[in-house]
Amino acid sequence: MDGKELLERQRTYFKSGATKSVEFRIHQLQTLKKLLTQHEEEFMQAVHKDFKKPELEMYATELGILHNEISYVLKNLKKWTKPQKVSGALVNFPSKNYTVAEPYGSVLIIAPWNYPVQLALLPLVGAIAAGNTAVIKPSELTPHTSAAIKEILGKWFKEEFVAVVEGGVETNQDLLAQDFDYIFFTGSTRVGQIVMEAAAKNLTPVTLELGGKSPCIVDETADLETAARRIAWGKFVNAGQTCVAPDYVLIQSKVKDQFLEHFKESVRDFYGVNPKLSPDYPRVINESHFDRLEGYLDDGKIFCGGKTDRNELYIEPTVLVDVNEDGTVMKEEIFGPILPVLTFEKIPDAINVVNSKSKPLSLYLFSKDSDAESMITEKCSFGGGAINDVLAHLGNHHLPFGGVGNSGMGAYHGKQSFDIFSHTKSIMKKPFWLDIPFRYAPYKGKLKWI
Ligand code: NAD
Repeated sequence: MDGKELLERQRTYFKSGATKSVEFRIHQLQTLKKLLTQHEEEFMQAVHKDFKKPELEMYATELGILHNEISYVLKNLKKWTKPQKVSGALVNFPSKNYTVAEPYGSVLIIAPWNYPVQLALLPLVGAIAAGNTAVIKPSELTPHTSAAIKEILGKWFKEEFVAVVEGGVETNQDLLAQDFDYIFFTGSTRVGQIVMEAAAKNLTPVTLELGGKSPCIVDETADLETAARRIAWGKFVNAGQTCVAPDYVLIQSKVKDQFLEHFKESVRDFYGVNPKLSPDYPRVINESHFDRLEGYLDDGKIFCGGKTDRNELYIEPTVLVDVNEDGTVMKEEIFGPILPVLTFEKIPDAINVVNSKSKPLSLYLFSKDSDAESMITEKCSFGGGAINDVLAHLGNHHLPFGGVGNSGMGAYHGKQSFDIFSHTKSIMKKPFWLDIPFRYAPYKGKLKWI
């Protein structure tokens, strides 16, 4: 079935009103939760086949997040779907005013490969909660996972409600040419531009969850051992193929050597002396990303790591120092297990480095200095972030997750997911018993009353 036919079927189903009742939405979310549990092993194996992602990481960063999100939505959905009263305006006295969240209709979800289950299904939770139908296009770079998503969801959902379409660029182009009611895209900034251009043709609203270079600033007041351990974890989880991974570190020069020693120790503690043998260290997704990443190794001096094996798509957790700031490693999003470490003297210098680049998806600061914290959070624009940790802010569904500028537009997670997949309809209701004649012509002499 091509994109046109699929959308027509979904639209007919949506128009039947089947997806709108809260009971239906709750039932479908429960179904999603059930299928995640029943097919947990298949999802885990598929992702492992695609890039050797360890089971614990798979649960903590994909399935666990999905379970938490669904539970939270199930607990709150009845409240969110009720009309919300708002204050009236004097000029409309007397009136009742309220908003109603209405589903857009049929939404298109395009997912990347790096957290292939979570990033395909987390937006789906919001889409279902808000009463939409959905077409999901997982990434062609994780073929085992995409096939598993298609097969499993196909068993539990009717295609006119939730459909999964496998394929690459051509399939995306076909889907993007259709008149969907909403597009939710997660992926690179480059493809985000293509998606937005296609959406503009039909005036389709979009959420773009994109990438960028997320900085990690460490000042001299930080607990360096803990900072190094947390950064090493956030950088090398998923072998650095995380949209919010620390892309580069800016360390205050006085404490650089200490930080680097702690960092090296942490990597050894996590993955042993030969990370290639560790069952906990994933691989790079394919040859072209491997080649791109290997090229970055020439843009600095290797402090630790640096070993590669193209046959195994293995790149050792690597730290680069004496980095060429004009090199591609400091221009492109790294999206792999290579961490450039640069130094700064004073906090404003670090701010200048961050602000000389596109607005990042995340920013991290390790510091005990509240002045540094307020200076950085006020002067740098970024999607979201954390103080004294990395990545962990995504675990809180009360914090909307999204980028700004080149790192994206719109945010989701928790209630925000319900909101983005809903159109907020505003309604004012007036009684008949009072009809103030001021607004009616003739206007002569009325201006002086204002
Ligand atoms: P990508 O942009 O290459 O691909 C994403 C999706 O777009 C895939 O489904 C792919 O099939 C499709 N696509 C690719 N080329 C296309 C084209 N020319 N026309 C139409 N569709 C096309 O991204 P990726 O490599 O899968 O993922 C990595 C990127 O995603 C990184 O930049 C990363 O930062 C970003 N990312 C962002 C988030 C977030 O939540 N903000 C999460 C994960 C990844």
